[in-house]
Amino acid sequence: MANKPRSSEALKVVARCRPMSRKEEAAGYERILEMDVKLGQVTIRNPRASPGELPKTFTFDAVYDASSKQADLYDETVRPLIDSVLQGFNGTIFAYGQTGTGKTYTMQGAWAEPEKRGIIPISFEHIFTHISRSQNQQYLVRASYLEIYQEEIRDLLAKDQSKKLELKENPETGVYIKDLSSFVTKNVKEIEHVMNLGSQTRSVGSTNMNEYSSRSHAIFLITIECSETGLDGEEHIRVGKLNLVDLAGSERQSKMGAHGERPKEASKINLSLSALGNVISALVDGKSTHIPYRDSKLTRLLQDSLGGNAKTIMVATLGPASHSYDESLSTLRFANRAKNIKNKPRVNEDPKDTLLREFQEEIVRLKAQLEKRGMLGKKRRRSSRRKKAMDGESATENEGEDDNEDGLEKNMENYLKEQKERLEEEKAAIQDDHSLVSEEKQKLLEEKEKMIEDLRKEQEATELLATKYKAMESKLLIGGRNIMDHTNEQQKMLELKRQEIAEQKRREREMQQEMLLRDEETMELRETYTSLQQEVEIKTKKLKKLYAKLQAVKAEIQDQHDEYIRVRQDLEEAQNEQTRELKLKYLIIENFIPPEEKNKIMNRLYFDCEEDQWKFQPLVPAGGYKPQPHLAGSIAVHIDHFLNCWLTDSGSSCN
Ligand code: ADP
Ligand code: MG
Repeated sequence: MANKPRSSEALKVVARCRPMSRKEEAAGYERILEMDVKLGQVTIRNPRASPGELPKTFTFDAVYDASSKQADLYDETVRPLIDSVLQGFNGTIFAYGQTGTGKTYTMQGAWAEPEKRGIIPISFEHIFTHISRSQNQQYLVRASYLEIYQEEIRDLLAKDQSKKLELKENPETGVYIKDLSSFVTKNVKEIEHVMNLGSQTRSVGSTNMNEYSSRSHAIFLITIECSETGLDGEEHIRVGKLNLVDLAGSERQSKMGAHGERPKEASKINLSLSALGNVISALVDGKSTHIPYRDSKLTRLLQDSLGGNAKTIMVATLGPASHSYDESLSTLRFANRAKNIKNKPRVNEDPKDTLLREFQEEIVRLKAQLEKRGMLGKKRRRSSRRKKAMDGESATENEGEDDNEDGLEKNMENYLKEQKERLEEEKAAIQDDHSLVSEEKQKLLEEKEKMIEDLRKEQEATELLATKYKAMESKLLIGGRNIMDHTNEQQKMLELKRQEIAEQKRREREMQQEMLLRDEETMELRETYTSLQQEVEIKTKKLKKLYAKLQAVKAEIQDQHDEYIRVRQDLEEAQNEQTRELKLKYLIIENFIPPEEKNKIMNRLYFDCEEDQWKFQPLVPAGGYKPQPHLAGSIAVHIDHFLNCWLTDSGSSCN
C-alpha cells in the first residue's frame, strides 16, 4: 500500500522526525516512530493499538531521523533542486507538518549556529557561491518575502503593512502578486538582511507569535535570472523562481483559542491548507478533470509547484512521541498521497519582461548618456574637448572604452575641474580688463557666473547618472568580477566529496527500494517446491502475509472513513456557525436598518470574483450607471429569500 517507491525526479517527498523534546521525555511519552534511513521508510505504531493491529510503514524518497544534520538533508535532497533553479527551472520546497515538529527548524533553523542553519540560509550560500564560480554569465538575484494569514497576503518587506495584496493573473506569466516588493541582492549578506527584515515584521503585530506562526504560511521567494551567450551566438536569459514555504501547522484546529475564547476566524483558518490537500487529492486520483487551485491564495500562488512547471520537494515533519500519533499519521498519509503528483518542469528561457533585460537596457542607456557627457570616452584631447564644450556641442568620441569605476570618476573630476578653472580664469580676466566699460563688464561677468552655475548643475546631474550607473552595474553579478569565490581548494574538495557521498546514498536507497519491490513481485515466480509438504508450508506463510496485508488495507479504509466523517462533521459545524452568524446579521439588518437604506446599500453592492469580495458600486458612476451582470439586485433577492427560509425554519441548526 504505502510502499510504492520513489516519486519522480521532479517531485520529491521526504520525511523528517525531530528529537524528543525535553518536555516529552519528562512526561515519559513512548517513541512511536521508527525510521529506516537506508531504505527510506517510516514505521508508525499506534500507542492504543487494538490486538492484532500492525504498525504502518510508509516509503519516501528519503527519511531523516532525529540525529540527522541540516547539511544531510540539504546535500542529499535540496542541493539538486537549487542547482536546477540556477539553471532556470522553477523550484518549490514545502515544509508540512504539525506545529512544533520542525518546519521552521528545517526551513530556517538557528541562524547563529552554522550547523543548525536550515534550508534557506544554506541555499543563500549555495546560490551566491555558484554565481561567483560561474563564467561568462550575468546574474540578477532578487528576493521577496510574504505571508498568507486568514487568506490575506501580507508583504513582509513593505513599509506599509496595512496594505493587503492582491493576486493577479497574466496570461503569459501566470499568477503573480501585484505590488509585491522585491529587493535585488548582490551577496549573502544582503539577502540575509532581507530575510531578517521580513522575519522581524512577521513577529511584530502578533501578540502570540507561536499561535500566529502556526496559522500563517510564510513564503520566501528568490528569483534568479541568468543571461548567457548561447551556441547560436545570441544572448539568452533563463529565469528560475524558488519558493521556500513554511506552511501553517497541519493540526486540526481546536474550536477554542489558546485562551479559551472562540477564535473569530475559526472557519477560515486553514482554508489554504485544506485547499492544498484537495488540490493534491484531485491531482493524484487520476479521474479529476478539475483541480481546485482557485480555492485558496496558497494553491493559486503555487499552482506551478503542484502538477505544473516546477520541481518540488515536500518535507513532512513529524514528532516522535505517542501523543502526536493521530497528527503524525495524518501527516504521513498526506505526504504519501503527494508522492503521486506529476510535475512537468522545463527551463524558463527568454520569457518576456525579465528584470535582467531591463537592467541591461537601462545600463546601456545610462552609459550612452554618460558618454555623451564625455564621462566615459577615454583619452580625451584637451583642446578639442574644450572647444567643443565651449561651442555647446556634445563630445562623443568613441575611441576605446574605459568604463571602469575609477576611470569614470577620475575622468569626471578632471574634466569638471578643468572647466571650472578655465571659467574662473576668464572671469578674472574680465575683471582685470580695464578697456571694458563697467556695464559691459557686469554683463560679461554675469554671463560667466551663469556658465559656472550651469557647470555645477551639469556636474550634479552627471554625478547622479554615474551613481545610478554604478549601482545598477554592481547588481548584475559576474563571477570573478564583482562577486568573488572565497572558498579555498581544500574546502572545494570537501564540498565535492560531500556531494558525491550524498549522491551515492541517494542511489543506494533507490536501489534498495526497487529491490524490495521486485522481491515482492517475483517471489511467486522464483519458488519451486520439492515436496507437497513444503508447498503447503510456503503457501501458508504467504497466505498469512497476504492476510495481514488485507487487514492493514481494511484498517486503512476504516481510518480513512473515520477521518472523512470527522472532516464532514467539522465542516457541518463550521457551516452551522456561519449560519448562526448570518442570522444575527440579518436580524440586525431587518430590525434596525430602515428598508429604504437597506435597499440603497443592496443595490450598490456587487461581488468581485477576482478578489473574492463584495464591493460597493461608486455612487455616481462615470459614464452613466450600468448594472453589472452579477450585480447585487438579483442577489439581494436571493439572499432575502434564503435568509427568510432560515429565519422562519425554526432552526434545526440552532440548538
Ligand atoms: P514548527 O515550525 O513546525 O512549529 P519548530 O521548527 O519551531 O516547529 O520546532 C519546534 C522545536 O523543535 C524547536 O525548538 C526546534 O529547535 C526543535 N527542533 C525541530 N526539529 C529539530 C531537529 N531536527 N533537531 C533538533 N531540534 C529540532
Ligand atoms: Mg514554525
